[in-house]
Amino acid sequence: MSFALHGQAVSRGIVIGRAVVMTTGRVDVAHYFIEADQVGKEIRRLVAARDAVAQEIRQLQSGLANFPASDAPAELTALLDVHLMLLEDQALAKGVSDWIVGRHYNAEWALTAQFEVISRQFDEMEDPYLRERKADLEQVGERLLAALRGEAKSLFDQVTADEADAHRGRTDVPPVLADKLQPDDSPPLVLVARDLSPSDLLQFKQSVFGGFVTEVGGKTSHTAIVARGLDIPAVVGARQASQLIRQDDWIIIDGDEGVVIIDPSPLLIEEYFFKQRQGSVERERLHRLRHTPSVTLDGAPVQLMANIELPADAEPALQAGAVGVGLFRTEFLFMGRTNKGLSQLPDEAEQFTAYKAVLEAMHGLPVTIRTIDIGADKPLERGMRPSSEDHLNPALGLRAIRWCLAEPAMFLVQLRAILRAAAFGPVNLLVPMLAHVSEIKQTLLMIDRARAQLDSEGLAYGPVRLGAMIEVPAAALMVDIFLEHFDFLSIGTNDLIQYTLAVDRVDQSVTHLYDPWHPAVLGLIAQIIARCQEKGKDVSVCGEMAGDVTFTAFLLGLGLRNLSMHPTQIPAVKQQILRSHAKNLEPWSRAVLDSADPQSVALT
Ligand code: PEP
Ligand code: MG
Repeated sequence: MSFALHGQAVSRGIVIGRAVVMTTGRVDVAHYFIEADQVGKEIRRLVAARDAVAQEIRQLQSGLANFPASDAPAELTALLDVHLMLLEDQALAKGVSDWIVGRHYNAEWALTAQFEVISRQFDEMEDPYLRERKADLEQVGERLLAALRGEAKSLFDQVTADEADAHRGRTDVPPVLADKLQPDDSPPLVLVARDLSPSDLLQFKQSVFGGFVTEVGGKTSHTAIVARGLDIPAVVGARQASQLIRQDDWIIIDGDEGVVIIDPSPLLIEEYFFKQRQGSVERERLHRLRHTPSVTLDGAPVQLMANIELPADAEPALQAGAVGVGLFRTEFLFMGRTNKGLSQLPDEAEQFTAYKAVLEAMHGLPVTIRTIDIGADKPLERGMRPSSEDHLNPALGLRAIRWCLAEPAMFLVQLRAILRAAAFGPVNLLVPMLAHVSEIKQTLLMIDRARAQLDSEGLAYGPVRLGAMIEVPAAALMVDIFLEHFDFLSIGTNDLIQYTLAVDRVDQSVTHLYDPWHPAVLGLIAQIIARCQEKGKDVSVCGEMAGDVTFTAFLLGLGLRNLSMHPTQIPAVKQQILRSHAKNLEPWSRAVLDSADPQSVALT
């Protein structure tokens, strides 16, 4: 029977496919399809892992047997017996090998898929003692995964989409869906997880998944932001999704409405196919605007720039019609690195190559390189993160510029790389999360020091325009001081909203309070833009508000002429600009600012 789950619509589009459910902690196992002739080998890997774990447990048992009876914890002996029983369970072994033989899942994927199935059966048990054995099952699963890990591939390590299609098979495809597929096509796979980190998502680009659903996350969490950049349908904050959706269920993700439909009826599949087609036609229509200059009806040019995460994103940004990069989130170069220790962060040469690659790809258009903004919901790998304790609030901790100033050697490496890359094209150097005059001064000193080092080493570097992000209310309230030190400002609305309203941007339990239309937020934005205009300094918005078409008219009416967003959002925002008369919008924007209920002020 069909049912629906509701979450946050974070990345538009519709995907109809088969669910691949991964609960927390299991997301980081490899998921890839194996070749038909590797089935035997994969099963042998599993058997070897099972034997190794069984051997380990038996050794533990014999170790316990040597204890004096009074010292040997009876529960431990019983527990190990249960683990051995689970390991030797034929139904479990058959279930796992069925995934390998029938679906060509790799061993780790097959194991986690079968553990999902069994763990549901445990959840449904009446007897509380048996229900609690689920913990044992999980421990056995972890031991097996650890035994497999020696040769495991990395997260989302994939075969190519073509290879995947060859294996996915068309078994059990609902007839209405089968009718819509090309003869050689297989239905998409949709990932259902409790949570995905932004670095997980970066690997999504090469993965076999056509969309995803998570249980946690808000609209401006970095997971959502990266999903928008990938342009794949996604819904976050769909509570209990990984419990209610079963492995292999047919599901529809409606990334426009934030709805996930499980086990859809043929009628619903038809309806969503129709919506999917309409969406593609609309995108195609908007795409045709990519070479049209972005100018309002009354002739005001508006610069539409791109937010990017990796050098490879520069090319799609150009394709979408961006006239520069307004925000290069360089922290993504630092994330998802599995080695431990600060020494494993990208060195100067690697960073320089990445920044130069973006400048070259943008062919002389300006590139805004933001210094590393690690922390909060963008952690480094374990062992490499800023040293916030787990119980502290990372959004208020050693994040972004705070971390950079606490790790001056690391920061200097990045500044040197940016300055050197600036010899190859126009660079705006942007600093996130500044709130204190002392931070401004220390940052500027660090930039001077980086220049002095390069001078003394005789290394070439180029000029940069210096900019600060305004994303903390304290900074918004002292814009004049910022303008004494910086050439331009960029408003990070994602964080400005979070910190103004004291609402964690990743916590879906307070998502309803994360209100970009809050009068305090709008007032701060208006004030920042007005001060920049008075001082003749450039100002842009680079948070998610910039790509949200419902804000375009308001921002134009405030006089904003520079917006930076994910490239996929550029065409729709451009369409809004082409239809707007900037001068006529000014009184309306003022009325919105004066209202206690800004969204009720109709645009006449
Ligand atoms: C912002 O806070 O609006 C912003 C653009 O930075 P990030 O989303 O990377 O924190
Ligand atoms: Mg920010």
